Amino acid sequence: MPEGPEIRRVASRISKVVANQGPLQVTFTQPHLHHFGEILSGRQVLNVTSRGKALLTQFEGALTVYSHNQLYGRWSISRIGRVPKTTRTLRFAMHSTTHSALLYSASEIAVLSPEEMENHPFLTKLGPDALDDGVHWRDVLKRLMDKRFHKRSLAALYLDQTFIAGTGNYLRSEILHQSGVHPFDRPCDLTRKQLGLLARTTLSLSRQAYVTSGITNTPARVKRLKAAGIRRSRYRHLAFARSEQPCYRCSDLIERIEISGRRLYLCRRCQPKHLP
Ligand SMILES: [Zn+2]
Repeated sequence: MPEGPEIRRVASRISKVVANQGPLQVTFTQPHLHHFGEILSGRQVLNVTSRGKALLTQFEGALTVYSHNQLYGRWSISRIGRVPKTTRTLRFAMHSTTHSALLYSASEIAVLSPEEMENHPFLTKLGPDALDDGVHWRDVLKRLMDKRFHKRSLAALYLDQTFIAGTGNYLRSEILHQSGVHPFDRPCDLTRKQLGLLARTTLSLSRQAYVTSGITNTPARVKRLKAAGIRRSRYRHLAFARSEQPCYRCSDLIERIEISGRRLYLCRRCQPKHLP
C-alpha cells in the first residue's frame, strides 16, 4: 500500500491538473454517490492534499471528496480524451479542459461537508502528519512520551495512524533502523536522547521520501551506487527489502522478520534490543 509520501505526491500531481483550472466535469460511478456528480460538476477544485493515506479534494462550495485507496485503489492522470487501458473499475473522475484525474478500483470514497469532515471516524483519529510543515520533531517526541503510546512496541506504533499519520511498512523499517532502535522496544524503554533522535528521524525520512519518490537511503550513497550501475530497487532503502545484505553501517547482515503478517527489516547489531 502506498504510504504518506506517495499519497502526498499523487495529491500534488492531481492538484497541478485540476486545482484552480476552471469548472470541472465530475462523475462518480457508485450509485450512492451518483448525485454528487451533478452537484460538483461546474465547480472548481480549490485544493488537493493528503492527510496520512487519505486524499482530500476540496471543491468550491465547501464540499470535500475524501478518498482512501486501501490496497487496490489507483489514481491515473492523463490528457483529456486519453483514457488509460485498464481492467480496473472507474470510481471517480474529474475532467478539466486539458486533463483527467481518474480514481480506479476498490476505494473508500465519500463526499463530506465541513461538519462531516470534523466528525469523520478516520480523519478525527489521525495523528499529526509527518509531511505537514507545521509538525515539529518535538510534537513527535511529545507523542512518543504520551501515556497512550509510550508502553506500546515501536513496531506497532509506526503502523498506527493515530500515532503518526502516513507511516507504513517501508517507513517503519527505515525510521527504526536509521534511529538504531529495536522494533520490540517501547518508547518507555528508551533514553531521552534516543527518543529525540527517533522523533527527528521520523520527520526527516518521511520528508526525504516525499521529495525523492520513496528513496530513504542517504543521497551521497545513492549517488555512488547509481554511478556504479546499481538499480533503484537495490539502492532505494537502508534496510527495507535488503534481507541478507550487509548493513551499510556495520556490515552485519540485514534480517527480515514478520510481525502480524507484515515484514520488517533490521540490523541486530545497530538496533540492539533494550534489556528489560
Ligand atoms: Zn548494522
